Amino acid sequence: MAVEIFCYYTAQLAQLKIESEFITKWRNTAHSSEVFQDIIQNKYHRYKVIYTDGSKSVNFPAVGAACFTPEDNHTTRITLPKQASVFTAECVALEAALKYIYRHQDNAYVVCTDSLSLVQTMDSPRIKPHRNRHIVSIKNIVHKLKEEAPGLEIIIMWIPSHKGIQGNEQVDREAKEAAQSAVNVVHTVPHTDIFPLLKQKITKNTHKELTRQASFKGGAYFNKYYSDSSTHPWFHNKKLPRHTTVWINRLRSNHYNLKASLKRVNIVQDTRCQCGFPVEDIDHMLWDCTCTQAHRQEMVQQLGTKRLTPPYKIEKFLKSPNITALKIIDDFLCKNNLNL
Ligand SMILES: [Zn+2]
Repeated sequence: MAVEIFCYYTAQLAQLKIESEFITKWRNTAHSSEVFQDIIQNKYHRYKVIYTDGSKSVNFPAVGAACFTPEDNHTTRITLPKQASVFTAECVALEAALKYIYRHQDNAYVVCTDSLSLVQTMDSPRIKPHRNRHIVSIKNIVHKLKEEAPGLEIIIMWIPSHKGIQGNEQVDREAKEAAQSAVNVVHTVPHTDIFPLLKQKITKNTHKELTRQASFKGGAYFNKYYSDSSTHPWFHNKKLPRHTTVWINRLRSNHYNLKASLKRVNIVQDTRCQCGFPVEDIDHMLWDCTCTQAHRQEMVQQLGTKRLTPPYKIEKFLKSPNITALKIIDDFLCKNNLNL
């Protein structure tokens, strides 16, 4: 059966009924399978149950989607290109279930999926046809069914995966099998599915380039602080004032506004501190210098209350930045008018 893709605005407003009783009951029970059977037997005994699932794993060569109807032991398996997201697979599985319904049009159906995001998308009036054409296609079929078979009832129901619900276990196996087969339908993958792949590639290339640069650009920063395990800078989500982030970054790069650093780039001729100590660097200013001793005791005391014990060295706090310690140090720098 070919359900043509059209995109009438009214079709996009078509919604499936959502079964919500199970979600509420499921939260308070350890017997999901029994609760599920109860609801099906009491509320939906005259309905045909269809299970859908999508499967994606790094171990599989493709992405799988399946729908399974126990009553007539009917299975549809669809293999999608490996770039497809698991959400796309869940959509394709639901699409397959709706096509099955369109062909049979018995009387009433419950479609069970373990994809909460799919149920939420189906429940949402927001339409983003440019993001995922499968949702458009699903809504078109629903709309067509409502027009052609107004009495036909379709409920969509979220169920938990791997909780012993037999139909779910079965469709999970079918989707996995589909993911291990050759692509059997020419399916365009929504362009948004490609974004995580691009991001992965960009991150990998960036790390490669940074590591290459580290080999000739002074390795101190890379050896001490660089980490390829995160795609965010260390200050992401830390909510620090900008000036604090700036001086911490300056210290981590070992280029900051004290004579030890300035001498290296010939801005000053001498590294000697006002107090007479030969090297004016950050550790001297924080822990030793007599010019900054007025607020030192307070800083050291505060560090002590955070269970940070001496001997102190700034490098220790900069490594995977210790924000608590750095905030205390920030306060000390402000009180001493030290602008790094
Ligand atoms: Zn000094």
